[in-house]
Amino acid sequence: MTLLAATTMVQSIDQALDAASRAAAGGADLIEFRVDRFAHDPASLSHLVANAALPCIVTCRPTWEGGFYDGGEDARVNLFKNLIQAPKPPAYIDLEWAGYQQSHLWRQQIDQLLRPDGPTGLILSSHDFDGRPSDLSQRVEAMASVAACRVVKVAWRAQSLLDNLEAFKILARTRKPTVAICMGEPGLPSRVLAKKFNAMLTFASLEPTATTAEGQPTIAQLKHLYRWDTINRDTRVLGVIGHPVSHSAGPAVHNAGFNAVGFDAVYLPMPIAPGYDPFAACVSAWLDMPGLHFHGASVTIPHKQNLLRFVRERGGTIEPLAQQIGAANTLARSADGSLHAANTDYAAALDTVCAALNISRAGLAQRRVAVIGAGGAARAVVAGFAASDATVVVYNRTLEKAQELADQFNGKTGKVVPARLDKLCDSCCQIYVNCTPIGMHPHTDATPIPAAPSWEPGTLVFDTIYNPPRTRLLRDAQAAGCVTASGLDMFVRQAAMQFEMWTGHAAPTDLFRRVLTEYLAG
Ligand code: NAP
Repeated sequence: MTLLAATTMVQSIDQALDAASRAAAGGADLIEFRVDRFAHDPASLSHLVANAALPCIVTCRPTWEGGFYDGGEDARVNLFKNLIQAPKPPAYIDLEWAGYQQSHLWRQQIDQLLRPDGPTGLILSSHDFDGRPSDLSQRVEAMASVAACRVVKVAWRAQSLLDNLEAFKILARTRKPTVAICMGEPGLPSRVLAKKFNAMLTFASLEPTATTAEGQPTIAQLKHLYRWDTINRDTRVLGVIGHPVSHSAGPAVHNAGFNAVGFDAVYLPMPIAPGYDPFAACVSAWLDMPGLHFHGASVTIPHKQNLLRFVRERGGTIEPLAQQIGAANTLARSADGSLHAANTDYAAALDTVCAALNISRAGLAQRRVAVIGAGGAARAVVAGFAASDATVVVYNRTLEKAQELADQFNGKTGKVVPARLDKLCDSCCQIYVNCTPIGMHPHTDATPIPAAPSWEPGTLVFDTIYNPPRTRLLRDAQAAGCVTASGLDMFVRQAAMQFEMWTGHAAPTDLFRRVLTEYLAG
């Protein structure tokens, strides 16, 4: 069983006792007291350990291993001795591997204090704040071979998602209870998926501001956002691949959906540096990792084109319109391991428009559509409308980009034309779709249509921006009597299509909408 260990830096005994009570109420199994700045008061620390609401790990990390303790080693041994010999000793003492090795005398003292069958276990730990140490396996093996060592702990700064796989491999072959953690944003999977690989524990903080290591989630995030209680060795892993991804709403939305339909999966942020090589290396390794059950992903900027190439090179299938658009946002893996790439953006945009106008996709034929912007979102939207036989005018600040887009999708319908953005006020379309970031948070007073064309009654204005859900463009359009549709609808629909592809369940779209709205409200 993998334990959930809260961490707290001890500032005062009352604060630490309160932290232990809150950690217990939040569902933690253990608490790590970081006593680096409190080591001068062993009697108070004994009182803390005896009265804490949870069994505890006591760690007094010296400055040379990334901590704050700058006292002498004799004082540190005396502190441990006091705690261990108290009527209620800590469950574990954490001691860094470099410290344990520093002298024969020090090793002897520690071995005598922390006997393999004693009430307090020794965690031997090794940290590298620069990256994965080249002798990682040897270190793990050396720590495991110390008779007094009850738990081996290694932590290093992850450079990429690949580091997590190293942590999982260590856990898979270890012969003693082990903790293998990757620090930093790319290392989050090693913390959340610790249960899948039978780690001895994972660490979490009580508040976002109280982390004791970079990339550490809070207890609430681990339990409520990342489904800690449901994770088991068979849990499927999904995520949002992009750069950056830390502010993606995907984890909140999809994990809530998995909860609602009882699908055994967890969805994580998966940052991958720009470029095809990092993308292909990470995704290949994640797909091939035994026991990981990597099941699929949302793929966002800058990897939407990379996904198409990757799936093609791996012999998978690609949705024809995604191929034509030149970008895909969804990776799905079948039970037989085969891969599929799809683009749910264009379909979500079309469905959002059809729902707002109460028509079927066939009803889009012959409609006159103004698409504002010629970037990635516009590409998907133009492709969708062109395939639906609508007439499309692409208005863009850079006319050449609008021209390129029109040339590409004109072949089939002959009805996609480019125009300069400043010609928008002369437009006489029936549907307007904003595919630029103009009006997005925090620039919510901006609009791509400051001088509105003479909108006929029944004109649809659709803003693909979802933050805020009601942009100035939509407010202006509504005031002018137009029908409006929000990017929030599009986001929910594209996420729902992905969800259905991965789970085979109908997506709980009302829940998705509620979670996304709450997420945007902060
Ligand atoms: P992108 O590839 O960077 O393209 C942005 C487009 O906006 C370009 O055509 C650019 O014109 C134009 N633009 C940017 N700033 C401008 C300005 N100040 N004045 C005039 N034109 C400007 O971005 P994207 O990936 O297409 O995303 C665009 C928007 O779509 C995002 O902001 C997002 O809100 C929305 N989106 C929503 C969803 C959803 O699910 N609701 C999904 C995807 C995207 P130039 O060509 O002249 O540079």
